[in-house]
Amino acid sequence: MLLGSKIAWDDTVLPFQLDRSDIRGRVARLDGVLDGILAQHDYPPVVEALIAEATLLTAIIGQTIKLRWKLSLQVRGNGPVRIIATDFYAPEAEGEPARIRAYASYDADRLDEAAPGFDQIGKGYFAVLIDQGDGTVPYQGITPLAGGSLSSCAETYFAQSEQLPTRFALTFGSSRTPGKSASWRAGGIMLQHMPKASPFAATGGEAGTAMGGDPALLSAADLLNPDEGENWNRANILLDTVEELELIGPVVQPTELLLRLFHEEQPRIFDAQPVKFGCTCSADRVRQSLSIYSAKDIAYMTTDEGTVTADCQFCSAHYVFDPATLGFEATAPVDGSGDSTDDGPADQPANGSKDEDKA
Ligand SMILES: [Zn+2]
Repeated sequence: MLLGSKIAWDDTVLPFQLDRSDIRGRVARLDGVLDGILAQHDYPPVVEALIAEATLLTAIIGQTIKLRWKLSLQVRGNGPVRIIATDFYAPEAEGEPARIRAYASYDADRLDEAAPGFDQIGKGYFAVLIDQGDGTVPYQGITPLAGGSLSSCAETYFAQSEQLPTRFALTFGSSRTPGKSASWRAGGIMLQHMPKASPFAATGGEAGTAMGGDPALLSAADLLNPDEGENWNRANILLDTVEELELIGPVVQPTELLLRLFHEEQPRIFDAQPVKFGCTCSADRVRQSLSIYSAKDIAYMTTDEGTVTADCQFCSAHYVFDPATLGFEATAPVDGSGDSTDDGPADQPANGSKDEDKA
């Protein structure tokens, strides 16, 4: 494949394989995607950092799903940071960008801006959901929060739910160039031992429900035979030499980085996947989600101004509806003239509550 300019690697995920060691992986660089997501909200920096890490993980993990599938990460805890949620929409067709969106729900009064974000999620779980489209049973895997970072939770998830030894090296941060507003960048590498059978093997048809949560969490050593273990350790030692600036770019291109780290492991690259920010909410989807309610329920949701409003947690789009057009007992036709919106999205039924979402 042709090597593009340095900037062309931003907002891409580059899959690779190490032929000598039976390991595959991805290199990801995000900048505009993060700014797109974070510009929708006014999160404190400690929450922005969690969103940056979760978005980077989502891009790296999501790259492997098939066209039109959707992969979601959900982190829920009992601490001040209650929810971190992301969605990755695989492209409709080869070569198109994938779309990512993310949001956080947190308790501003309890949040400690000086403490590490992960510690403020508390006890809870890390879930991966894969929606393969209409007529299929969504795949769901869950592990308890463990290890001190979202990436270590993801490593535990893959070992526990997928029996796949997996390692992430991620870095992310906000920087301010003179005369410009602060901007986030993130970059990372994932290594993963070749799968035997899992939806992440992209073989299709393997989906089911894998529930983790076994008290004894698996690690790479439990999953590999001695030869595989030796390969795995060698690649991990090489990855340990990576520096933050190499991960985050833009000076070192991902292809140069792979050669620098893994040239003896025979790295081979595949087509890079571009990613961008995107939300899928719409007035129609909100209507759809409200269609299960009776006229009485709709009346209960109606504000003093005589409208029903909904806010998308992902992109903050605000929808306003005429209550007579909502629910299964709607008395007025939907002609669009009664609705107004800031033009965007709202996937979630939200009768004013910002905390509601579909788990
Ligand atoms: Zn939206």
